[in-house]
Amino acid sequence: MSPAYPRRSGDDILFPRCTDCGRWRWPDGEICRTCGSDKLVATPWSGTAVLLAEVRVHRGVPAPFLADGPYDLIALDLGGLRFLTRWASRPATPIRGQACTLRWGEIHGTPWPLAHAQTTFVTSPRRRVLP
Ligand SMILES: [Zn+2]
Repeated sequence: MSPAYPRRSGDDILFPRCTDCGRWRWPDGEICRTCGSDKLVATPWSGTAVLLAEVRVHRGVPAPFLADGPYDLIALDLGGLRFLTRWASRPATPIRGQACTLRWGEIHGTPWPLAHAQTTFVTSPRRRVLP
């Protein structure tokens, strides 16, 4: 059974990738969702993440996380992967389509890839993700 979180190798962020068809799989699982192969290998991800959405969480989460609250969860498109994470440092006005990089950080002592906003856009900026 593989861990239910991205793996780390040095600074690399590893996600499962099918060696038969090349598609990423996230969340992790036993077989590829595209071709059914069981040949999933932890593979370093690199590239540009694109901000899809952001939601501000005010309640309904475990107490340790509420101590941070409210906090923002963001959905990123990693080029075939959809990934939920948090900002390393939230930009003043996050914009859908904004380019981000992922680097290892920590959330309550647990290593997790956090988003670092860039000033470029992968797609045309459509609208702010929060009012
Ligand atoms: Zn596959």
